[in-house]
Amino acid sequence: MSVDRPRPLVAGNWKMNGLRSSAKVLSEIHAGYTPGLKAKVDLLVCPPSTLLHVFALASVGSRVAVGGQDCHAKELGAHTGDISAEMLADAGATYVIVGHSERRQFHGEKDADVCAKAVSAHRAGLTAIVCIGETRQEREAGKTLNVVRKQLRGSIPVDSNPQNLVVAYEPVWAIGTGLTPTAADVAEVHALIRDELRRLVGKAEAPKVRILYGGSVKPSNAAELMAVENVNGALVGGASLGAADFLAIAGAYLG
Ligand code: PEP
Repeated sequence: MSVDRPRPLVAGNWKMNGLRSSAKVLSEIHAGYTPGLKAKVDLLVCPPSTLLHVFALASVGSRVAVGGQDCHAKELGAHTGDISAEMLADAGATYVIVGHSERRQFHGEKDADVCAKAVSAHRAGLTAIVCIGETRQEREAGKTLNVVRKQLRGSIPVDSNPQNLVVAYEPVWAIGTGLTPTAADVAEVHALIRDELRRLVGKAEAPKVRILYGGSVKPSNAAELMAVENVNGALVGGASLGAADFLAIAGAYLG
């Protein structure tokens, strides 16, 4: 293993799921985050904003990080219903997901919006998990690498470094569908991302940036996907809603 290889991160994106009673899942995650797992992999839970503060308080001392799922680019102001990166940080978040395909698709977010949100995450001291990925049509048209390159260049702030940036490659067609790309396809895209990062954050820092794979990761395919070159963890949707599956995915790093 290269000395530069980053410590893996397995992140759960709960999306619009979870009530106060879901604190039970979080305590099961704490209980299952054994010293063996802690030695190998970082864990992050991104619940809905309503649960963020209580999850952050419950996670103090556990080494399970808590993050937001989105933020506004501005610090404060007349933006009804929005949440700023500073508010997430104030609630105890240390990460925020930006540019998830559901935000791009259903809220019309473009690369420049995603970049502005990542800038705001950095301003608030958060690590931005910047999501990129092609649609099925783009893959079928052979445009995957061009799409991913363009999204990456447009979405990553200039002040990014391995501490404040995580990139998540999430093919849109793999999210919530049970479909996954082949290991070779994942390797090809992650290699391109690593290469682009050399340009964006510099040759010395690029190997240290974590690049997550996301899209229908589950216990049965995690070991194969996590073993792919340049895959430094997973962004997990559906399978992160239960502690057993989430921990089993992280368990891929136990070897
Ligand atoms: C996601 O939405 O980030 C995701 C990866 O979802 P799923 O694991 O359910 O495909």
